[in-house]
Amino acid sequence: MFQPVNGKFEMPSLPYGMADLAPVLSQETMLFHFGKHLQTYVNNLNAALPGSEFEGKSLEEIVKISDGGVFNNAGQILNHAMYFLQFKTPVMGNAPTGEIAKLIDRDFISCENFQNEFQAKGAGLFGSGWVWLSLTDSGKLVITQEGNAQNPITKGLKPLLTFDVWEHAYYIDYRNRRPDYLKSLWSIVNWDEVNKRLG
Ligand code: MN
Repeated sequence: MFQPVNGKFEMPSLPYGMADLAPVLSQETMLFHFGKHLQTYVNNLNAALPGSEFEGKSLEEIVKISDGGVFNNAGQILNHAMYFLQFKTPVMGNAPTGEIAKLIDRDFISCENFQNEFQAKGAGLFGSGWVWLSLTDSGKLVITQEGNAQNPITKGLKPLLTFDVWEHAYYIDYRNRRPDYLKSLWSIVNWDEVNKRLG
């Protein structure tokens, strides 16, 4: 749960530096995407909170009950926090570990199959949005496409992993090549963090 501190949401504290995800995500991308885009969503939401019905609520609660500008900014903070907090420095052949590895094999036959489907859904999302891996109520893994600021928690799913497919996420490093960006991200996924989200 992401809670406000003294009435305001703060930028997530990342366990790596802005240059540490290169060459998958360059320092320039991080400075713009994390440093400017996410900061703007945080500033916008914090400006809208005082005196509103959303004051004091967790980010997840706000995403579930809001619409319009509040929803867009809260959704984008939650999405970006989950995106940036799931990464680590690049590792060649970085494969899922622990419980999530077992669930992926059970529900997608193989890790390769899962990654291909995840990439295809990310590449095939028209416009801006996010591709997500989530857990259903009955404990099954599902991949969903979510437009703009949407997050699977609004559908009652438990979100585990996400790749941002807004152009601002990849245009500096990959230009128009969204599929190349999606494929590269696997080497920086911190599967320990994904396992934590399984609960
Ligand atoms: Mn983004």
